[in-house]
Amino acid sequence: MNGTLIVSLDFELFWGMLDCCALEDYRDHVLGGRQAIPELLKLFEQYGIHATWATVGFQFAEGSREAAAYFPESSLRPSYGDKALDPYGWFEKIGATEAEAPCFFAPGLIRQIARVPGQEIGSHTFCHYYCREKGQTVEQFAADMAAAKRIASDRGYELTSVVLPRNQCKKEYTGVLEQLGFTAYRDEENDWIHKRIKFRPLLRLLRLADVYVPLTGQGGYIPKKEGGIWNLTGSRMYKPIFRPLEFLEGWKIRRIKKQMLHAAKEGLTFHLWWHPHNIGVRTREHLKQLEDIFSYYQQLQKTYGMESLNMKEAVEKYTRTGA
Ligand SMILES: [Zn+2]
Repeated sequence: MNGTLIVSLDFELFWGMLDCCALEDYRDHVLGGRQAIPELLKLFEQYGIHATWATVGFQFAEGSREAAAYFPESSLRPSYGDKALDPYGWFEKIGATEAEAPCFFAPGLIRQIARVPGQEIGSHTFCHYYCREKGQTVEQFAADMAAAKRIASDRGYELTSVVLPRNQCKKEYTGVLEQLGFTAYRDEENDWIHKRIKFRPLLRLLRLADVYVPLTGQGGYIPKKEGGIWNLTGSRMYKPIFRPLEFLEGWKIRRIKKQMLHAAKEGLTFHLWWHPHNIGVRTREHLKQLEDIFSYYQQLQKTYGMESLNMKEAVEKYTRTGA
């Protein structure tokens, strides 16, 4: 079988960062990320890149009132022990429309993305739900995903692919996805660093080093179907420019290309992902790097027949060929 390049984006505006930093400190990344999206779409069209935009459910709403019509009842919202993670409290603080609250709503942008060939609107849960957080339950998760399906469906999008926030997957939870009719999810990178290293500072250091040098090998794989849902594990996150190690940026891109080459030659799947806000500052430089990657994909397409597919198209291909 020919190799597959899957691209997915976690489209979350500020919803994924509520507990990480203050909105004032991150607003330029989120707004810059919004501005980068039309530019990115142009590159996707130019180089034939198909991608899944895993979108937070709240973002489909024109504003707060419309989002609220889809909220699960209070007992079915995530009862996290850590209240900083709760997104529902934010609705009192944010503006009422996409124009007033561009860090929280994006129906216009979603329409713009969906118009571009090869772009799939997927799900990043309804409320940016954390499946491994203490306090929440699988019933709450099911209510959240059902709400995501509903709000998207009312706007004409049928969600079948999912990226779970912070890649927090659990078997019981992917079972819920399957019951709700989802056909693919992106699991967390499945390498020895993630499996064996439990000491977080060391884990982070090794993961950082792996961005530049091949500590974990090439990341290409043959996808597996788990029950009724395909596990489309992420192979690599495209990391934004990291200033202290900026002199290694060339290594970062070279590493990604080598991984792509390996997948193309061996007929494997390579799944590259990032967030729009990752390229929200220093956007020109990031788009240049991405263009370099996409143009390399075109070479691999010509030489080895590699295909760029979104998650939904990848499922169709694997179902057809039995992976
Ligand atoms: Zn996220």
